[in-house]
Order: sequence, then C-alpha cells, then structure tokens
Amino acid sequence: MKYLTLALTALMLLIASGLAPADKTVTAPAAATDNPADNLSPASLPVRGLAIEAPKPAGLDAFLKFIEEDLVPAGFNLLILRVDWNYAYESHPELRDPNPLTRNDVKRIVALCQRSGIRLVPQINLLGHQSWANQTYALLREYPQFDETPSIKTEEHYAPWPNDYGLYCKSYCPLHPEVHDVVFPLIDELCDAFEADAFHAGMDEVFYIGMDECPRCKGHDKSELFAGEVTCIHDHLAEKGRQLMIWGDRLLDGRTTGLGEWEASYNDTWRAIDMIPKDVFICDWHYERADLTGVYFATKGFPVAECGYRNSDLCLQQIRDMVTFRQQSSPEMAEHLQGYIHTIWSGADMFLRRYNALKAGQDPAASSRRPYDPKRDDVRALMEVMAAFAGQK
Ligand SMILES: [Zn+2]
Repeated sequence: MKYLTLALTALMLLIASGLAPADKTVTAPAAATDNPADNLSPASLPVRGLAIEAPKPAGLDAFLKFIEEDLVPAGFNLLILRVDWNYAYESHPELRDPNPLTRNDVKRIVALCQRSGIRLVPQINLLGHQSWANQTYALLREYPQFDETPSIKTEEHYAPWPNDYGLYCKSYCPLHPEVHDVVFPLIDELCDAFEADAFHAGMDEVFYIGMDECPRCKGHDKSELFAGEVTCIHDHLAEKGRQLMIWGDRLLDGRTTGLGEWEASYNDTWRAIDMIPKDVFICDWHYERADLTGVYFATKGFPVAECGYRNSDLCLQQIRDMVTFRQQSSPEMAEHLQGYIHTIWSGADMFLRRYNALKAGQDPAASSRRPYDPKRDDVRALMEVMAAFAGQK
C-alpha cells in the first residue's frame, strides 16, 4: 500500500503541476460536445449538486420557491436532502420527529424536481452521527440496544471535542442482528416516497466503530466492519436498482495524506476503499483546501464528486479542478470524475433566511453574531457556485 500511495501522490502532483485556470491550460479534445469551449465550463460537469437539510413542513413553500427560482436557473441537476427523522415513516412511526414531512409534502418536492431535471436523493445518516452534543437521535433513543458504546451517556458525559471518551457522535453497531430490520424499511420507504434511484447514507466521521465494549465488534478489523456496513446497505439498495452515495472521509488515510481525522480517517477504516463495491458514489468533501483526492477515488474506479462548503475560492477551485481533471483524463477516468456538490450544514429554514437576505443585497456582516468573514460564509459560497454553474464565472 505504501508504494501505491506514493504512486498516487506522484500522480496527484503531476496533475497539480498542470493546474491553473482551466480556460488557459486545457487543450485536450472535447469529450461531451463538438465545441471544445463547452467542455471547459462548469456547466459541462455531469453532476452539479447541492446537499442540504430537508425543510420542515412550515418552510416547504419557501424551499420549493428556492429550487424553482434559483437552483433550476443556475443549472443544478442534483439535490441531496438530509431527511433523517423528518418524515412521517409508516414502517417505524416511533422514529418520526414531531411534525415531520408527510408523503404529500415529499410529493411536491418530487414533482418539482422531476419536471426540472433534478435528481432527488434522500439521506438518512447511517452508522455514525446518531447523536449530536448531548442529544441522542431517534434510532438509538428508541433502540438503545443498537448503541455501539452504551457506556457513554450523551446527556451525562458530553463535553466539547476533544474529550476524554472520544465522543463526537454515537454510532450504531453494524453487527447487531436486528439493526437492519429497522433501518432497511426506513430506506425503502423514503426512497419510494422520493421516487429515488439513489440514497445517501452519510457514513461520515464515524469515530465509534469496532469498540472494545461491544461484544459483537470487539477485535474485528475496523476497515472490514466499515466496508461490511457499506456493502450491506449497497446490496440492499441494488435489489431495487438504487445507487448508494456516501461521504468519502472514512476511505482516506488521514495520516499519510495529512488530511487529519475529520476529512480522513485516523481510526483504521481507510483500507475499506478496497473492500466495497465500485459503484458506490463518493462525495469527497474538503473544506480547508481544494485537496485532490477525487483523483484517488476515480483511480480506484468510483464515481466521485468534490464537495465544498464555506470558502468560495476553494469551492470554485474544486469546480475548476474537476473540469481540468476530466479534460486531462482518459475517457475511462473522466467518466468517474462526476462534478461538484455544494454542502450546507445549517437548517434549511436558517439557510433560506440568510440566502434571501444576501440575495436582497443586505450586508451579511450586519446580521452576523461573530466578526464576519466572507471566507467562512457557506451561503455566499453557494451563490458563487451558482454563478459558475450558470456560466457567469
Ligand atoms: Zn458493535
């Protein structure tokens, strides 16, 4: 693996050495159209996406308006909605949030996306992210027997990261014999409601996996545990012709790459990259630099999109990189390098308030509780991305 890593590093350096604004460097023949200029544009990327929390029912009208009047004209063609427990599940009503989206609510989103050419992908965070701060989410609240670390009580032990007990978010135990009996009906029901041909399972930042206190997982190889859960969910989706999407961080070696323990793995899950099906769509998020790991995933045979967040310069660089990668790659590689997905991590309602204020020309510094930094504004970055997709940058 060491030699492979060195070879990939050399490959990335080689590509990086040729990186510059794409419109000055790319001379390769056109792939997607007969006009080379068309293929130098962000609009040429097969995937132009946004990943965001699903709205609450009260915010649905405003969210639909945003899709129709902003995302569609900018040329977005993928919308990943984090639903989690914000849906009126019939298979497991005990897991519903209070006042969740109904099937009729979802059908309104589906109808708009279908007539607008937007691929709509629902998400439930699986494996990790089963709690946040001192709140345990619905799955482990209702089924505490699935908890990988039952000795850690979120409500009693939470302290800001880093803490002595390594708690960022709880995980479910992937080897619990009943966990998929609960999870799979949720996936099926949500995908049916969304009429989705893909499902995003999250699976990022899984810190608790293969823990010694779990009698089922203790002693297991953590890469095998992670790969096993990815493959299990993948295979279930594949039965109905659906694709699995996940975040890519657990598949990157955090130490070798220097990417650290958030955007990559310190907890021995990264060898799973060679153990999972090659049609899993990788959402390769990087928020501190425009790291070039998309090439690594594509070299392994995965479809991949780069994902950005708050720094518009980095987001636009990620988009340019993807255009350049595709231009400089063989057709076999280029088809894996799919595009760019912007990520918004605030609530959908909060996002829309900020978005509409910025769109109306209001000064974001005036309403910011902290000293305003334009390089840490995910909404402003999204607007830059929208302009790029619309051909205005
Ligand atoms: Zn376990």
